[in-house]
Amino acid sequence: MEEWLHINVKGAAVPEADVVILGGGSGGYACALRASQLGLSVVLIEKGKLGGTCLHRGCIPTKALLHAAEVADSARESENFGVKATLEGIDMPKVNSYRDGVVSRLYKGLQGLVKSRDVTYVEGEGRLTSPNTVTVDGTDYTGKHVVLATGSYARTLPGLEIGGRIMTSDQALTLDYVPEKVIVLGGGVIGVEFASVWKSFGSDVTIIEALPRLVAAEDEAISKAFERAYRKRKINAKTGVQFQSATQDDNGVHVALDNGETLDADLLLVAVGRGPQASGLGYEEAGIAMDRGWVLVDERQRTNVPGVFAVGDITPGLQLAHRGFQHGIFVAEEIGGLHPRPIADINIPRVTYSEPEIGSVGLTEAQAKEQFGDDAVSVYEYNLGGNGKSQILATTGFIKLVQRTDGPVVGVHMIGARIGEQIGEAQLIVNWEAYPEDVATLVHAHPTQNEAMGEAHLALAGKPLHAHA
Ligand SMILES: Cc1cc2nc3c(=O)[nH]c(=O)nc-3n(C[C@H](O)[C@H](O)[C@H](O)COP(=O)(O)OP(=O)(O)OC[C@H]3O[C@@H](n4cnc5c(N)ncnc54)[C@H](O)[C@@H]3O)c2cc1C
Repeated sequence: MEEWLHINVKGAAVPEADVVILGGGSGGYACALRASQLGLSVVLIEKGKLGGTCLHRGCIPTKALLHAAEVADSARESENFGVKATLEGIDMPKVNSYRDGVVSRLYKGLQGLVKSRDVTYVEGEGRLTSPNTVTVDGTDYTGKHVVLATGSYARTLPGLEIGGRIMTSDQALTLDYVPEKVIVLGGGVIGVEFASVWKSFGSDVTIIEALPRLVAAEDEAISKAFERAYRKRKINAKTGVQFQSATQDDNGVHVALDNGETLDADLLLVAVGRGPQASGLGYEEAGIAMDRGWVLVDERQRTNVPGVFAVGDITPGLQLAHRGFQHGIFVAEEIGGLHPRPIADINIPRVTYSEPEIGSVGLTEAQAKEQFGDDAVSVYEYNLGGNGKSQILATTGFIKLVQRTDGPVVGVHMIGARIGEQIGEAQLIVNWEAYPEDVATLVHAHPTQNEAMGEAHLALAGKPLHAHA
């Protein structure tokens, strides 16, 4: 235990805090940092590592792998740019040590932040023993408010046991070799992300998805373009097909599908979603309303029990780190009496990190038509073929705008290499309810991919520049 951690003395009396937070992931630590900034006394309880899933087993390590994958692709394709280089192979232990270096620098920084903000950090497994008490190792931590932030875990399917060659993202991140052949079960964000990394590292990859398309939560046009891009990369995808069973032996893993097909590979990655880590922690006993394991909250993150809030992945909705940060900050400000404005899930930016990337925020075309009516929605797609920087990067794709006719832009959907970086402006446009004419008057630097955002709005405002009317 590090010297700055709060030392538990079993049974010792601990003064009541303003806020007791259970779970030190994105949601929990953001809440702790903001609450202490507001002058509230804070106890933050974490059984594993401060930073949670995102920092240690999620966002950060996977994006480091994706960057290494991009470097591999650049070496492989260098000749296209007149550069003589060859890809000799992937040294997975070195990739992992680069990745671990990134994580450990951020971890150190975060520990320093929490320490500097005067948060009482308690290392240990907590349990809600009354609506205002969390007990760790026999010591009660009582708070005027309690924030539940215990996050999520990687799910599997009934009868599909994790172990050996069958793994979730947790084990996949610890591999010290590149598998020759992989099956990825699930074509959502985590599945396609790993598929992208492994393909760039040289694996033969097949994705199995029960829904009719990959990244099915995205606008249909994006999803179709994504499938085309994966086909071009020779990533196999079997959509609209159900997994039936898997067995493993010394030779590999053998997967049976409901269409009678069987597939063999070295590994099976199970990426079928994440479930709430909320059972057995005393929540039900304290009277917290739950639905299939999720902690239910209102739009102000309040559970049904007065004084108890919940944030991040244990609440139903998008499972994203920045949603957790936002929830955490929101709850701290709510407790601090600042009456913050809630942000609906639909307006939280989403990025699928892969080659190509997807960035989206707001309503898809189908959702907008359902909400406003077919005739009340205008759509424009700006092709990256007309964008200088995208040509330089040799990427294809588009930015699709969904507008409430004669009204604001209610959805931005993008696909292309590195296009996730454009999500910043996209989310400002949607959240500030900008009209195409508002954005069209703003200047976008040349040559950037960001220009495509400006061009799309110029076109929707009726004055296209580098696009046909
Ligand atoms: C492979 C992968 C890639 C991802 N990539 C991205 C991405 O690129 N961008 C993005 O936005 N999101 C990404 N995510 C999702 C992101 O990691 C989560 O949305 C985020 O971590 C949720 O934060 P949280 O605070 O709700 O939960 P968590 O981060 O899971 O934190 C919960 C914490 O609570 C602790 N805890 C649980 N029970 C107890 C207990 N009883 N006592 C004490 N402590 C306890 C846990 O140890 C954990 O540290 C990814 C996830 C995965 C798995």
